[in-house]
Amino acid sequence: MTIRTLQGRTALVTGGSRGIGAAISKALAQAGATVAINYRERADEANKLVDTIVKADGRAVAIPADVSQTSAVAQMVERVKSELGPIDVLINNAGIAITRGIDDLSEADFDRTIAINLKSVFLCTRAVLPMMRAKQWGRIVNISSGAARGAGSIGPHYNASKAGIEGLTRGYAARLVKEGITVNAVAPSLIETDMVRGQENLVSRIPLGRFGKADEVARAVMMLLDNAYMTGQTIALSGGMAFN
Ligand code: NAP
Repeated sequence: MTIRTLQGRTALVTGGSRGIGAAISKALAQAGATVAINYRERADEANKLVDTIVKADGRAVAIPADVSQTSAVAQMVERVKSELGPIDVLINNAGIAITRGIDDLSEADFDRTIAINLKSVFLCTRAVLPMMRAKQWGRIVNISSGAARGAGSIGPHYNASKAGIEGLTRGYAARLVKEGITVNAVAPSLIETDMVRGQENLVSRIPLGRFGKADEVARAVMMLLDNAYMTGQTIALSGGMAFN
């Protein structure tokens, strides 16, 4: 039985409708949090996940917003606040992976990746901080990647976006710890979601011999939420491929 450590808390998961975000949304609901599940365009998947959580006696709503856009983030956060209450837990998970070689990488690919993967973390953090500061309690977990430190398989734009997330994580962590707010990162490598579909050849790089599961990433996130003393850290999950 899951201990309901987040009873009475409200959580926002960006890109929470599929893959890793969906597993995190379910884990948060099982721990008693009311969950706002953000998505960009696939409403069906987000609504299906809400139904699953509600059927298991959890509380969740689906909220569309492109988290790379300032006004969309402001509207999303206002909606969560008015429908579910102030946000206590923010999981910055939304991300894209446009695979490009260094000679094919365009300025548009670079800008889009930085806006969705990195700028969104700044926009969402800035929008929720007043609520966390008012309560002197908050938990922020940013989903990075093994590509923040290693070569990765997507491209330098993706490496840069994830390394930037870890910089934001430490920058915010140092400045917010005195206010009861922790900011950490989880850095998975090769997790079985739509993002790695069709790239089964990559399994040969993983010493454990299989892709990771979204639920394994969710368990690392949950571990960070229950610890006021741990901040500014990155927890890596890579089946033995890399060590921080
Ligand atoms: P995924 O299955 O492709 O799901 C991506 C999620 O992000 C979807 O819910 C999608 O919404 C949402 N999204 C994309 N762009 C968005 C935007 N602009 N605004 C709001 N939501 C947006 O991806 P995943 O594999 O679960 O990855 C989740 C996170 O983990 C990403 O940050 C990724 O970089 C990171 N990660 C993944 C792996 C891996 O191997 N899978 C490894 C390391 C790190 P829609 O459904 O509406 O499109």
